[in-house]
Amino acid sequence: MKQLLSGRVAVVTGASRGIGRATALGLAESGVHVVAVARTVGGLEELDDEIRAKGGVATLVPIDLRDLPAIDRLGAAIYERWGRLDMLLGAAGVLGVVTPLGHLEPKVFEEVMAVNVTANWRLIRSLDPLLRQSDAGRALFLADSDPEPDRPYWGAYTASKAALGVLVRTYAGELKGTRATANLFDPGPLRTRLRAKGRPGEDADLLQPPEIVAPEIVAMLSPDFRENGALIRSRRREAMPSGMA
Ligand code: NAP
Repeated sequence: MKQLLSGRVAVVTGASRGIGRATALGLAESGVHVVAVARTVGGLEELDDEIRAKGGVATLVPIDLRDLPAIDRLGAAIYERWGRLDMLLGAAGVLGVVTPLGHLEPKVFEEVMAVNVTANWRLIRSLDPLLRQSDAGRALFLADSDPEPDRPYWGAYTASKAALGVLVRTYAGELKGTRATANLFDPGPLRTRLRAKGRPGEDADLLQPPEIVAPEIVAMLSPDFRENGALIRSRRREAMPSGMA
């Protein structure tokens, strides 16, 4: 196992599957202690088994990110144990329902905003003091610049990603002059549950698995990566057939 990031501590949301899970594994393989956040206990336990089998270490945090006081307790627990946080990957996300705005159920709209926007703000609020304590605090959030602005039927998801973008760029501005940074990463289309829900007719075999972007994300969470306030699009997109990127 490579131990390039040994001793570092990362919070990864969305760690039970998809991009968050793949990156949690990549971080653990590099020696990072992963604090893995999601609701699905079974998914977190499978991740833990896989990390342990590779000689890594994780702490499981089975919470619903709509539980905002739980996010505050997470910050307090990390402060007690480590006094700092080196990496935050905000990979939890929900699509909602692809439907006209007039048909969208209020509870669906509220869930999309709660998970994709409010929870990430609350994570920033809870973990910002800890990221500033690190010698190289790195916060990275998952963007989706695929659905172009104003795309019909994708209103809740697209609005949430636009709001997240503003939030993260604002945070990056506030971090100027510190050792911490905040950025956005657009992975492009990947074979995950969220993607399948948004495009049920798509042939999933044409998509790459989320593991393909894990090395890129691990690199962006590392001390050597010094960009701040950027939207970074996955390098692999340049090699993709037109229409897929
Ligand atoms: P995914 O496989 O569906 O994973 C979503 C993750 O979010 C799961 O681990 C899920 O865990 C967690 N989550 C959802 N609601 C939660 C809640 N209320 N509390 C705690 N955790 C919650 O999706 P993915 O494709 O990996 O998506 C990850 C991020 O990448 C999203 O922000 C998405 O917008 C972005 N993205 C994806 C693609 C793509 O093609 N896949 C492209 C661009 C951007 P539990 O259900 O266990 O709670």
